[in-house]
Amino acid sequence: MEYDDRAHDPNDATLRSWLDVPSGSDFPVQSLAFGVVAPRRTNAAPRGAVAIGDHVLDLAVAQRVGLLDGCDLGGEEFAAGALNAFLALGPRVWRSVRRRVSWLLTRAEGTTRDAAVACLAPRADVDARLPIEVADYTDFYSSRHHAENLGRILRPGSPPLLPNWPYLPVGYHGRAGTVVVSGTPVHRPRGLVADPERDGRPVLRASRRLDVEVELGFVVGAASPTATPLRPDAALDHVFGALIVNDWSARDIQAFEYQPLGPFLGKSFATSVSPWLIPLEALAPAFVAPPPPEVERDPYLVAERDFALPVELTLSLAAAGSELSTLARVDARHLSFTFAAQLAHLTVNGAGVRTGDLYASGTISGPERGACGSLIELTDNGTAPLHVGGAERAFLEDGDRVVISAECTRPDGVRIGFGSVEGTIVAAEEG
Ligand code: CA
Repeated sequence: MEYDDRAHDPNDATLRSWLDVPSGSDFPVQSLAFGVVAPRRTNAAPRGAVAIGDHVLDLAVAQRVGLLDGCDLGGEEFAAGALNAFLALGPRVWRSVRRRVSWLLTRAEGTTRDAAVACLAPRADVDARLPIEVADYTDFYSSRHHAENLGRILRPGSPPLLPNWPYLPVGYHGRAGTVVVSGTPVHRPRGLVADPERDGRPVLRASRRLDVEVELGFVVGAASPTATPLRPDAALDHVFGALIVNDWSARDIQAFEYQPLGPFLGKSFATSVSPWLIPLEALAPAFVAPPPPEVERDPYLVAERDFALPVELTLSLAAAGSELSTLARVDARHLSFTFAAQLAHLTVNGAGVRTGDLYASGTISGPERGACGSLIELTDNGTAPLHVGGAERAFLEDGDRVVISAECTRPDGVRIGFGSVEGTIVAAEEG
């Protein structure tokens, strides 16, 4: 089949879908977030999908019936339970599939539109799964405000930023196998924690200082070869999209274990992500300049164009059985190192990146009072508990439900939502 979509611009703010997209939806036709869904009422296997308004478009069926012909797909990329095979095809194919889906949802008529309608299902009728098989997972620490807040809390009297911080995006390699999709219960971790009553000897117990970290995550689609450092300006040739990350953190386990090699079991029990990958192509019109660096950075970290993302993230908490309360709002535009600089840093030593690599921004905090992406900051290390729906919270209790949502409003007025990532704390197993 031939499709007349060559001149079609999926970012055009004036596009309207023939499908009813509720105003204010997280998923307007200018976004076209990619995910993996499993239909609830049948035993159909998980498959690739695009979110549109309150619906999803089944990409496996669209591909099978020829609606994606001419997009240079190889075979049955969307019939898989993860988007990796599609992401590996690179930016030219990502752009042509997104352009085709946009064209189908806005311009298609007659039997072509009928075929597209047959690919639609209400989003409420599907379960959104983890969209990728995570290859490597890296977490950065790129919010100056977060790093300074933690420095003041953990090293009072010393300069809040460590000397290396302004020069490079500090990070650590995390555990890919425990990245879970929104809605997955989070079991309270156990670990060795310091016990002042035991003369410095630690005790194995369930964490009493379980925290959240509000972050953005970035998913690598196109791999890069070994010994080929990437320029920041090449980021859009490799990174497909963004999602929300909650980097659950057990502060007491972390405090005892982290020296000298950094975070380990206090982080690796679970990392939750939102299910919809927002294409960077849809966010690119919103890119802004990052904050000016405090020092002259090495040129390998300096991009020619702007890559900071003005994404506002909202952290909410429902104490067991109560309503959600908003705890904080933070803006990713304040991150000192962009996802493009982070990608350059990941590869400057010659390491390649792989399809399915996930890297997270680091906890996002801002300059405003209360703009903090973690409880340890919001409660001043637990000393100033928050009032949450009639309860007091310093750190998370069993049964607490945490929700992080995010949105980006582009200069052309298009509002792109990220959906949300949520998780409920489950009591640790007795042991
Ligand atoms: Ca983190």
